[in-house]
Amino acid sequence: MKKIDVIIIGSGIAGITTAYYLQKKFPNISYKIIEARNDLGGTWDQMKFPGVRSDTDMYTYGFSFNPWQGPIIGQGKDIKKYLTDTANKFNIREHIFFDTKVTSLSWNDNQWITKTNSKDFTSQYVICCTGSRDYKRPNFPKFKDENKYQGKIVHTQDWGDIEFKDKNVAIIGSGCTAVTMTPAVVKEAKKVTLIQRSPAWIVNVDGQEKSTRLYKTYETLIDYFHSRLFKKSYKKKILSKYPYYDNTNVPAYDYWDQRPACSLDNDYFISVKTNKVSVEHQEVSSWEKTGIKLKNGKIIDCDLTIMATGLNAQLLGGIDIFINNKKININETSWYRGMMFSGIPNLFAHTGYINFSWTARCEIVSQRICRTLQYMKKKKLTNCTPKYMGKKSKPAIEANYVLRSIDKFPNRSYKFYNSNYLLEYLIFKWTKINDGAVDFK
Ligand SMILES: Cc1cc2nc3c(=O)[nH]c(=O)nc-3n(C[C@H](O)[C@H](O)[C@H](O)COP(=O)(O)OP(=O)(O)OC[C@H]3O[C@@H](n4cnc5c(N)ncnc54)[C@H](O)[C@@H]3O)c2cc1C
Repeated sequence: MKKIDVIIIGSGIAGITTAYYLQKKFPNISYKIIEARNDLGGTWDQMKFPGVRSDTDMYTYGFSFNPWQGPIIGQGKDIKKYLTDTANKFNIREHIFFDTKVTSLSWNDNQWITKTNSKDFTSQYVICCTGSRDYKRPNFPKFKDENKYQGKIVHTQDWGDIEFKDKNVAIIGSGCTAVTMTPAVVKEAKKVTLIQRSPAWIVNVDGQEKSTRLYKTYETLIDYFHSRLFKKSYKKKILSKYPYYDNTNVPAYDYWDQRPACSLDNDYFISVKTNKVSVEHQEVSSWEKTGIKLKNGKIIDCDLTIMATGLNAQLLGGIDIFINNKKININETSWYRGMMFSGIPNLFAHTGYINFSWTARCEIVSQRICRTLQYMKKKKLTNCTPKYMGKKSKPAIEANYVLRSIDKFPNRSYKFYNSNYLLEYLIFKWTKINDGAVDFK
């Protein structure tokens, strides 16, 4: 087994960003990308539900090293093509092993063994770009008497080739996915019922808007910090700007507690006003033969039920990690700068922002990883292992999908700022690599 320098796991936005910076900073580095799917793109290869698109502006969601040339909000298939074009342009694709799923990572004799369903790899470093979601098990709430229901149920994460033309459709969920897909489903379905336990914050984006990466960074972060500092007045401002927020549609949580959903050129606001659409602010009680029974007793007849109920968060792609043959429980580690884990040498992992573009964090983390590798090369070091920093603390974000999986996350006793891109940008760029929190050998 020939040893290589770096194994990257995952070929979505994080994997492509990592590969780009590694080969830019170390032209002679050997690296391979291991990808479970049969194509690259991660989220943008998997998500095929109608209307799938970005919620973030593409000025910041695109790569700084290959700026997006399309409209401000990217459609799913166009983002997928952009990721493919970027990987081809920078000769990244030829490093990918497709259809290869990593099952475990073992650190023995000062090197990583990456076990997959087909072959094993040995490397000095591993960089996990496995995203934030459980690819196999989305959040799929179970209601009583599912076997009674004679219609079809589909989760947006496993869309396949579902037909909804001229059908009675129910969409359960109120977040970004439900908001983006509703206008697309309404166009073809006979009738659409939106079942929303609690309404979400939705803002409009003008599809013709032209901007710059710098301005969008400034605007998004100002919006976020205003909404945090002046919660009440900010909420009032949004409520008065959109007539949509009548008494029934006001979210129970604060603006920016979760990423606001985006209506493009008012498409969602327009579609919920049509007589094809009805909205039920109710919880589901059980399934009926012909549809869904709500907690208030009302029955919604539907041939197709779409679960736009979100994801289950998962770190490190669910891969088992062993250090010198001992299995690691990630929940018992400290999360160093949101990119490494205490007691686990030479392993980096990406995660993104809720309040800003995911890609932007992938870029600054990749640059920090390269700085770490440069430092180790210069000092002739082989191992870097973050120290354990103490007990658990609160998560930085309290989105439902994070809270559902909180027991699978490392503790945050080492302070980091993954809701503040500007601060992280400066910290990652200017703080010392040997900052006292990592053991270098
Ligand atoms: C519908 C939708 C819209 C979104 N819109 C936005 C947005 O507008 N702005 C934003 O900032 N974020 C958005 N997000 C969040 C989005 O997930 C991230 O922006 C980004 O795409 C994540 O990229 P990634 O490379 O980190 O992970 P992913 O895209 O999830 O890719 C991970 C890759 O790792 C592979 N992998 C996982 N485990 C293994 C394993 N064991 N072995 C081998 N390969 C493995 C997977 O197959 C996958 O290809 C959106 C998410 C969804 C679902």
